[in-house]
Amino acid sequence: MNARIGHWIDGTAFDPGEGADLPVHDPATGRVGASVALADAALVDRAVRAAADAFPAWRELSISRRQAILFRFRERLEQRKGELAEIITAEHGKVLDDAAGEIARGQEVLEFAIGFADLLKGDFSTNASTGVDVYSFREPVGVAAIISPFNFPAMVPMWFFPIALAAGNTVVLKPSEKDPSAALWLAALLSESGLPAGVFNVVQGDADAVGALLAHPDVASISFVGSTPVARSIYQAGSANGKRVQALGGAKNHMLVLPDADLDLVADACVNAGFGSAGERCMAISVVVAVEPVADPLIEKIVSRMSGLRIGDGRRGCDMGPLITREHRDRVAGYIDIAAADGAKVVVDGRGVEADGEPDGFWLGPTLLDDVPTSSRAYIDEIFGPVLEVVRVASYEEGLDLINAGPYGNGTAIFTNDGGAARRFQRDVEVGMIGVNVPIPVPVAYHSFGGWKASAFGDSKAYGHQGFHFFTREKAVTSRWLDPSHGGLDLGFPQNS
Ligand code: NAD
Repeated sequence: MNARIGHWIDGTAFDPGEGADLPVHDPATGRVGASVALADAALVDRAVRAAADAFPAWRELSISRRQAILFRFRERLEQRKGELAEIITAEHGKVLDDAAGEIARGQEVLEFAIGFADLLKGDFSTNASTGVDVYSFREPVGVAAIISPFNFPAMVPMWFFPIALAAGNTVVLKPSEKDPSAALWLAALLSESGLPAGVFNVVQGDADAVGALLAHPDVASISFVGSTPVARSIYQAGSANGKRVQALGGAKNHMLVLPDADLDLVADACVNAGFGSAGERCMAISVVVAVEPVADPLIEKIVSRMSGLRIGDGRRGCDMGPLITREHRDRVAGYIDIAAADGAKVVVDGRGVEADGEPDGFWLGPTLLDDVPTSSRAYIDEIFGPVLEVVRVASYEEGLDLINAGPYGNGTAIFTNDGGAARRFQRDVEVGMIGVNVPIPVPVAYHSFGGWKASAFGDSKAYGHQGFHFFTREKAVTSRWLDPSHGGLDLGFPQNS
């Protein structure tokens, strides 16, 4: 019988042992390795209450003590991150190096958060009015709910929880039901590092658990990352329930290649950013917008690089692993049919790939499509798989207009040696994160991550200063110490003197 993956509530692993569950697959073998328990509203309530009960003491703990706990967690994570990478590869399928990469990017946010004392400092104006001082400081908001997607089971939670905890909030994390174990591993490590019980909780579940978090009166904030339709509905429901919400959605990222670009650099970037993590990255490059005459020579270079890629089990030193589920693999493969039917040329077809792995793994090889019509669903939809599409345009302007016409605005890149063109692009493109000769421009931890348009709902991005802003609220104090000269009645609106 398969093990059942449960929750982490009030400092300990917890599973009622009954109730609904779902299978968790190893995508490289296709086998079910475990099942994951699905929280109902009562269980979500139990986790939120644990977090709410832990909040007053955690908020009161001094800055230096909170820092010490997060620092211990960082040290333990550094020593044991190999274990976490193996867990990620076993449930997500991404190759071990890539799993290590997502941990490193999450750790970056943790390291940024550990320096939080400086970010929580307020402002002070002495003698703003005669004998009156005005000052402000930031307070935590309470219980922070984090709902994360399957594609980064460690990094995306770490975009949020180190900052939420550093700022004095308590947390309930609901990871993806497709790869639920990384969250539990992180919870246990936080506990070993001295985090008090109840400060960090994990509930496993699906849409029902999310609905219970959105409706719970003791949840103060929602940080969501996932597909656009869900992000939009969570933003609307969470806001309607009076919570602060940041909801990051899907993407369809374009790379604009100008004729003066270094095509070897571009071809490397296309392969790395198009097929890394099997294209299951919200910052993957999905569309190469080639300003003619670069398309033919660029495609030749991309194809020659693709022929050297090893597809297979992420534990075997391959370059690219399987997709997350059989259904998702079939859905992605279906887009190759759609593109071909709509007139695109299938230059490299990943269907039927020979993978270095078991036959029932969820395999789909890297696929390159040329001349994809922009009216095709294959161009319009987020495919979220190893399918790279080339669209040919005649000019910079045509390429820019195409990018700006899309519904998403997560990431984009321009490849050129023309500084003036790059500068113009970064001003004119309607996208939140831009790479200049950099294909996956995920900002470092002390900047902030987030897209525009249908790629993000709410006005604060993840991590960086905006992350601290989201997880805190400001108090402003106007203070005067007793001075007999200020006595007397005056019903007018206070004016400064
Ligand atoms: P998803 O939207 O299916 O699921 C995300 C989370 O929401 C999961 O925890 C899931 O259990 C929950 N969920 C699913 N359906 C729900 C519903 N109807 N109501 C409430 N909750 C629901 O996304 P996914 O397939 O896990 O992840 C891939 C998607 O995430 C892609 O669209 C990708 O672009 C996006 N993503 C975006 C970013 C970003 O920063 N913008 C980062 C990573 C992933």
